[in-house]
Amino acid sequence: MEQLVTSDFKLGIIAGGQLGKMLVLAASNWDVRTYILDTDDHCPAATSCTCFVQGSQLDYDDVIRFGNMVDLITFEIENVNIEALKQLKADGKKIYPEPETLEIIQDKGLQKIFYRDNHIPSPRFVLCDNREAVLAAAERQTLPLPFVQKLRKGGYDGKGVALMRSKDDLVDALNGASVVESLIDIRKEIAVIVARNGRGETQCFPVVEMEFNDEANLVERLICPAALDAEILAQATDIATRIVSLLNLRGVLAVEMFVDTNNAVWVNEIAPRPHNSGHHTIESVVTSQFEQLLRAIFNFPLGSTQLKMPSVMINLLGEPGCDGPVRYEGLTECMSIGGVKIHLYGKKVTKPFRKMGHVTVLAPTIEEAIQKSDIVKRTLRVTSW
Ligand code: ADP
Repeated sequence: MEQLVTSDFKLGIIAGGQLGKMLVLAASNWDVRTYILDTDDHCPAATSCTCFVQGSQLDYDDVIRFGNMVDLITFEIENVNIEALKQLKADGKKIYPEPETLEIIQDKGLQKIFYRDNHIPSPRFVLCDNREAVLAAAERQTLPLPFVQKLRKGGYDGKGVALMRSKDDLVDALNGASVVESLIDIRKEIAVIVARNGRGETQCFPVVEMEFNDEANLVERLICPAALDAEILAQATDIATRIVSLLNLRGVLAVEMFVDTNNAVWVNEIAPRPHNSGHHTIESVVTSQFEQLLRAIFNFPLGSTQLKMPSVMINLLGEPGCDGPVRYEGLTECMSIGGVKIHLYGKKVTKPFRKMGHVTVLAPTIEEAIQKSDIVKRTLRVTSW
């Protein structure tokens, strides 16, 4: 095991966005050589990794070529060519999480079947092959309105999700194989990141609350720890632990959940990789989600997930109306606020609502962290020249 982190061990990370960059930085604490596969040679991880390999994570030949350059493969994105990963695995390459697990998660329909078969609480659903089938399901009340239509594949950050509150909304039904699921009366959206190593040991991070920007459908503010009764928190961590164990997953798994107005907990979706809802762990938890992923895939004991200090994380999104070379306004003012930790991903070009960075605010109380994060939100702006 030791040789994994004290030698010329080559860790391959598929895709080099901000998650890849933060993973590379965590790996740099050990003597690991990091290889990044990405189409964009200016991607956030390109300047920090040991070796940048240009290519698409969706292209069979690119993934095979990349896989053959490294000792172990992980990924920071779900949308990866599965056939290539399966071939690499058949050739003896170590890939964690494994391609078969990723294949289930890539398809929201297979995810829902997995929850149903394993009695994991998740909103009731039907599968529809196309738009016509969605309209027919609404007509026949196979699943009564209101409901949520989600494309089975390719959606992210709310893209590929359509809320159907009444018959009038059906004109906006999406075309494509979909999950149609009942609408939950949401009190809070929460997430739990759980890690599992090769010995089957599991460890959950503290439950977080997520507040969304309705316009962009991106997390606007993340609060850790979540202000919920101990019983609900225990349910959420128990569900996350059950899922990671049932999937036999080695790595980290982010489990997004809803707490409804009756305080019932429902699984929304899962992601088998580091997650936006775990950015704060870099500063506010003893072990970050990135170090934990490395421990899990290298089969080390998992690290402590004890909270060091309450925290609020806000995403730095490109301002609406700004499209071009990036400019940050208000950095100096924000750096002068105690407990404010600014992360800029190094993307050269901003676009409306593009994730350009994040800020974690640490404070002795959540109230203080929220107050400071509000100042940061007003002051720190991502515009263009
Ligand atoms: P994505 O994978 O694009 O992030 P999600 O499945 O997380 O899409 O859905 C995006 C948002 O839509 C959620 O954060 C939630 O606010 C809302 N949503 C999704 N499913 C439901 C549901 N069954 N009931 C109520 N709201 C939902």
